[in-house]
Amino acid sequence: MIRELSIVAPVFNEEANIELLFNRLHQVLQNQNYEVIFVNDGSADQSLIEIKKLASNHAQIKYLSFSRNFGHQLAVFAGLQKAKGNYVVIIDADLQDPPELIHDMLAKAKEGYDVVYAKRLNRKGESFFKRITAKWFYRLMRAVTSINIPLDTGDFRIMTQRVCKIVTSMPEKNKFLRGQISWIGFKQTYVEYERDPRIYGETGYTLKKMINFAIDGITAFSHFPIRLVTYIGLSMAFLSSIAIAYALYSKFIAGETVKGWTSMFILFTLIGGTQLFCMGIIGEYISRIMNNVLQRPDYLIDESNIDD
Ligand code: UDP
Ligand code: MG
Repeated sequence: MIRELSIVAPVFNEEANIELLFNRLHQVLQNQNYEVIFVNDGSADQSLIEIKKLASNHAQIKYLSFSRNFGHQLAVFAGLQKAKGNYVVIIDADLQDPPELIHDMLAKAKEGYDVVYAKRLNRKGESFFKRITAKWFYRLMRAVTSINIPLDTGDFRIMTQRVCKIVTSMPEKNKFLRGQISWIGFKQTYVEYERDPRIYGETGYTLKKMINFAIDGITAFSHFPIRLVTYIGLSMAFLSSIAIAYALYSKFIAGETVKGWTSMFILFTLIGGTQLFCMGIIGEYISRIMNNVLQRPDYLIDESNIDD
């Protein structure tokens, strides 16, 4: 059946938010032909039970449940693969993204845009640390990547089925969906909103997940770090040619060699540290090549009520 709208919501320990989210979505969408696809990303709480309970009462509710926690991006990706609507919305399950905004986003999309993303004017109820790291992350992304990833924008957005099909046909691992969607192009625009605090529960994005996500985004869309290694190497080579000239001068012309422990020590740690840093950057890219070569499935589904 052709649906007008598919809503994809990734779920990681959101037991208290699921029914609230559905109620608010339904309030907004009751006149539409829509489906909600919950993707349970290995929650350790009662999320799946809550989803199934709702699904047994509402035919619009679809779900799939992963065999373990595969991460937010893959949860969204899996939902997009199942979404059949003419338009597809990605929304967080913790109600930080207000469902009421879907109205505006859909209206805008119908004006002829393929992607309408929601741009955060501010973030309520989030820590200073989160706000500052997020802010700098988006600006760093903008500075080092070749595509135009919108500032202060999460995955909350609406897209046409054709964009959804393109994203889900991109086989790359280490997904960074908001970057991939920018990369796809077509007509894209945004609506602005105030980001609400999370209703219940706590963030599933630990510092470790945030750092990994940031590195994924940068490495997937930028060769700047690798280029940086080249520049550092060139600068080091230049500096060392001066150092060598100085060393030869001291030995053969000035004839004073033994002193200089301090400069040796500084150079030694500096070069060692720089080399390790550069090897780390190269390693990041190699590990991503490996991920893509391995060809493991993106995720594993434990159960679902969606039949293909
Ligand atoms: N999420 C997920 N898997 C994870 C972490 C988070 O599916 O490993 C979901 C989570 O349930 C929520 C969305 O992704 O719907 C955004 O996560 P969260 O609210 O924890 O991140 P924050 O808003 O704090 O950045
Ligand atoms: Mg959140």
